[in-house]
Amino acid sequence: MRAVVFERYGQPAEVREVPDPAPSEHGVVVRVEATGLCRSDWHGWMGHDPDIVLPHVPGHELAGVVEAVGARVTRHRPGDRVTAPFVCACGSCPSCATGDQQVCERQTQPGFTHWGSFAQYVALEHAEVNLVTVPEEMSFGTAAGLGCRFATAFRAVVQQGRVAAGEWLAVHGCGGVGLSAVMIAAAAGARVVAVDVSPQALELARTFGAAACVDASGTEDTAEAVRTLTGGGAHVSLDALGSPATCAASVNGLRRRGRHVQVGLLPSPTGTTPVPMARAVALELEILGSHGMAAHTYPPMMELVRSGALRPDLLVTSTIPLDAAPEALAAMGTAPGRGVTVIEPWS
Ligand SMILES: [Zn+2]
Ligand SMILES: [Zn+2]
Repeated sequence: MRAVVFERYGQPAEVREVPDPAPSEHGVVVRVEATGLCRSDWHGWMGHDPDIVLPHVPGHELAGVVEAVGARVTRHRPGDRVTAPFVCACGSCPSCATGDQQVCERQTQPGFTHWGSFAQYVALEHAEVNLVTVPEEMSFGTAAGLGCRFATAFRAVVQQGRVAAGEWLAVHGCGGVGLSAVMIAAAAGARVVAVDVSPQALELARTFGAAACVDASGTEDTAEAVRTLTGGGAHVSLDALGSPATCAASVNGLRRRGRHVQVGLLPSPTGTTPVPMARAVALELEILGSHGMAAHTYPPMMELVRSGALRPDLLVTSTIPLDAAPEALAAMGTAPGRGVTVIEPWS
């Protein structure tokens, strides 16, 4: 099969022939019809993820057709249209037993713990725990985002952030996850403030339902801007980018008893990121993390997509062939905020 491979961190990846994967006992191999380009892929390529072993094939938000199933897989068969959360759970650890597959203790992640979906085929583990059926009427390009950016945003806004209609929700960083969060929060009846350095990203945020925007490139204190626009601070705030500055701005833009949800990854040389905890104490803030979404919690989100209340298809701004993926991967670090790119490995 053809796949995007990199041998060294931060050095150009290339498209080349590699052996086809085979399914494990409980796993499947999926023919990749579409796979999204996510900032986490860029982090992996830069060497920020300790799980990655070189040479490596990135890619973790995918949709496609089951090509082959392992000997112990009975609920899926070749030809099934599927996607999967990027956190593939084991199904049997204590976290899985309590329904928290998104923090599985023996999780695998395509594109991180093993070769991913910037390829014509990808192997997925524990298929019966992780595969989500993609309805006939949903395109693979749309479904690909449900594996990471859209489901991650859904869990952050709805399950962890617990946003209610009429509340203010701030989104710091309007890339794929951030724009998804804007759309999901607006559909839930929240009033959304979008914060980004890119006017193009803010324009998209407005299209997806943001009530107010803060251009971070021309605003010295974005937290203060959010507090002013929301009459005292947001009820819920997401750092969808993942940087010390956006994390702090998200916490500082909250009102009393507000909820901060950290969604963007925060790699740092020291391994820790400063958080304004004095404010968290004084204002009784909640500081929450959000990590993907368990496959069994997909149905309410799938129903909102099916009904047209949520339109993840509108987030996709460009579709490229596999050959263009190495360059697009490298560009993720420098050109955020332009919507979502989907790779089609067979085009
Ligand atoms: Zn992702
Ligand atoms: Zn588990």
